Amino acid sequence: MDDLKQSSLDAGQDNQAHAPMFDPVDWKLTDFEARLCQETRELACSRFADRAPGIDREARFPTENYVDLHKHDLMGICVPKEHGGRGADLKAYMLAAAEIGRYCGATALTFNMHVSSCLWTGFLADGLEMDDDTRAKHNAMRQKHYARILNDGAIYAQPFSEGGAAAAGHAAFGTTALLGDGGWIINGKKIFASLSGHANYYGVLCTELATEDTKPSRSNTMYIAIPADAEGVSVEGEWDPLGMRGTVSRTLIFKDVFVPFSEQLMPRGIYFQAAKRWPHMFMTLTPAYMGIAQAAYDFTIRYLRGEQPGTPPVKRRMYPTKQLAVAQMKITLEQTKSLWFQSISEACPNPSEDSLHRAWAAQYTVMENANAIAQLAVRTCGGQAMLRSLQLERLYRDSRCGALMLPWTAELCTDMLGRGALYQPGESDA
Ligand SMILES: Cc1cc2nc3c(=O)[nH]c(=O)nc-3n(C[C@H](O)[C@H](O)[C@H](O)COP(=O)(O)OP(=O)(O)OC[C@H]3O[C@@H](n4cnc5c(N)ncnc54)[C@H](O)[C@@H]3O)c2cc1C
Repeated sequence: MDDLKQSSLDAGQDNQAHAPMFDPVDWKLTDFEARLCQETRELACSRFADRAPGIDREARFPTENYVDLHKHDLMGICVPKEHGGRGADLKAYMLAAAEIGRYCGATALTFNMHVSSCLWTGFLADGLEMDDDTRAKHNAMRQKHYARILNDGAIYAQPFSEGGAAAAGHAAFGTTALLGDGGWIINGKKIFASLSGHANYYGVLCTELATEDTKPSRSNTMYIAIPADAEGVSVEGEWDPLGMRGTVSRTLIFKDVFVPFSEQLMPRGIYFQAAKRWPHMFMTLTPAYMGIAQAAYDFTIRYLRGEQPGTPPVKRRMYPTKQLAVAQMKITLEQTKSLWFQSISEACPNPSEDSLHRAWAAQYTVMENANAIAQLAVRTCGGQAMLRSLQLERLYRDSRCGALMLPWTAELCTDMLGRGALYQPGESDA
């Protein structure tokens, strides 16, 4: 990491930008978590930060960041150690990914889509029930995906949104996998498929059908890797959004795509089990936004102290209104970090009801507060700070996207939380 450290310093970033988001001593991180966070922070600060404005402006995928992630052995961050990866669990990954989010939100968000393919098939699947035979087959199957990632730097995407109720967990996926000879025939459409046109494999959630007449059921959800170059795969539509522009989340079409059984990512029924028993798996979109919240705060401190590179050294910190606003930002940031840290620390299969409710509260808090902090930062720093030559306006736009991410959108979190607090499972007023 020495060359990275040097280039971070060469980039002229100040010390504030390099302080860990979660101080290893204060937050009692393990040595493994602290080291991983240091690696991602140094890589993102020295390499991704300078590329982020161009990626945002051109709404293009951060390919060069993925080359770096592969070079620094981070593509397999959640590949289990016994399969040659770094073996990060959910918490270690989330903490490390938040450091990436500080410097490039789009890289952190797309990295989550890629990493989920390893986290779900690795750490999460290892905590779920499987008979010995199924586990042995799963071990053999996942090794193939992990080898592609570790050896070739293969990128996996995670398209599950379809524009209906499926991604929210209320209906079976409309994308279908019809059982055939030696594999499935996949048909369907995925919207907002981040990394589309840039991933090597699309880790698709779809509904397995025994025959064309089978009634789709959520319990038959399959998780299958579709090679991007398979016949019948196409990418459609424009990509010119408000924020998170580097995610390139276009529409994926699957038309009679044949995929061999060997491309299965999780055994039959295991995704359905994971979605019910490992709910914290849906929190992995938050680190990108946790990082953005920290970055908006850091920017404000540098700017008001007259220390923001690219701006004149004008101090604005002496005004009581600025001090009050910064205090408000700090309180919101600390509330967000504390709730998030607690929730990712207690993540486990079959969480208690209280822990599940806290996870929804944490998801809502990160997604909404990242935007609240960015908004306050724009108002407090003022007009000159929202020029496109500085990163604050990008942070502001990127932060607005967090609340929209299914399955745990801010709306759905309040929906589930209100109902969950007032009703026991299965209880009704009828
Ligand atoms: C930058 C960005 C990147 C993204 N990347 C990905 C990606 O890589 N993979 C991916 O799968 N998705 C991705 N998404 C999509 C995201 O997760 C959502 O699916 C998308 O924002 C939903 O848009 P919509 O207009 O369909 O939303 P909505 O209409 O709000 O919701 C979609 C559907 O969910 C159901 N729903 C919503 N609220 C409720 C409710 N309260 N109760 C019951 N049902 C409800 C409804 O049927 C609704 O039609 C991305 C989104 C963004 C903004």
